[in-house]
Amino acid sequence: MQADYHVHTALCGHAEGEMAEYVDAARARGVPEICFTDHMPAPDGYDPRHRMRPDQYPLYRQAGADLRRSITAPTVLFGIEADYYPGCEAYLGRWLKEEAFDLVIGSIHYIRNWDFENPAESAVWNTVDVTETWREYFRLLGRLADTGFYDVVGHLDITKKFKHIPPENNVADMAARALDRIAAAGMAIELNTSGLRRAVEEIYPSLHILKMARERDIPICFGSDAHLPDEIAYAFDQALDLARQAGYTHTARYRRRRRDLVPLP
Ligand code: ZN
Ligand code: FE
Ligand code: FE
Ligand code: ZN
Repeated sequence: MQADYHVHTALCGHAEGEMAEYVDAARARGVPEICFTDHMPAPDGYDPRHRMRPDQYPLYRQAGADLRRSITAPTVLFGIEADYYPGCEAYLGRWLKEEAFDLVIGSIHYIRNWDFENPAESAVWNTVDVTETWREYFRLLGRLADTGFYDVVGHLDITKKFKHIPPENNVADMAARALDRIAAAGMAIELNTSGLRRAVEEIYPSLHILKMARERDIPICFGSDAHLPDEIAYAFDQALDLARQAGYTHTARYRRRRRDLVPLP
């Protein structure tokens, strides 16, 4: 069983379960290691509905530190899912360096003011040029990589969530540019199984993009993006198959933002 490096908690306001419940679920499933990566607080007022408030962050940090110290199985790591959006640079780079994270996931959830992966705003997809929208997303992904703030790209092709997908050639072209910059930044990407629970019913990223990442020697890790304790390590057998199909032989392991590679089973 692979480590689960993408786990939320009730603190973000749209997940259920305390950290201890996720730890218990991991132990029951034989998951050797989990990393909490709840949505970062944003002191500039960015997207307050999907994240802990800045004054709640010390609770998150303390709970993570306590578990990290007191629980031996599974190994508990402490991380954060940090958004990239134009303007985040003002505080995010400094803040991420100040905190003692094991792992920082870099994710994009907005294109301009549109929360494009929120079911409540999914109807907007019917009114936009899908290819142009993906282009804009992948340009943002390139900028995310260029910041050097993050360790792992979260849910890389999440633009496919509601099945609005451009022709494969176009996707390959825009993904190639972003992946070049992800590789140059020394980042890894995750195999995020939450896409299997959405309309698209696919892991993020697609096999095609994963093969392109493999060609660039971009490491991978595994994440369920659990928002319920029962989602820990969700469909990791399928993710492992996908990794192997793309030619991967190793997975990334993190400690205090340092990475090493461990063979896949
Ligand atoms: Zn969430
Ligand atoms: Fe996310
Ligand atoms: Fe997440
Ligand atoms: Zn997520």
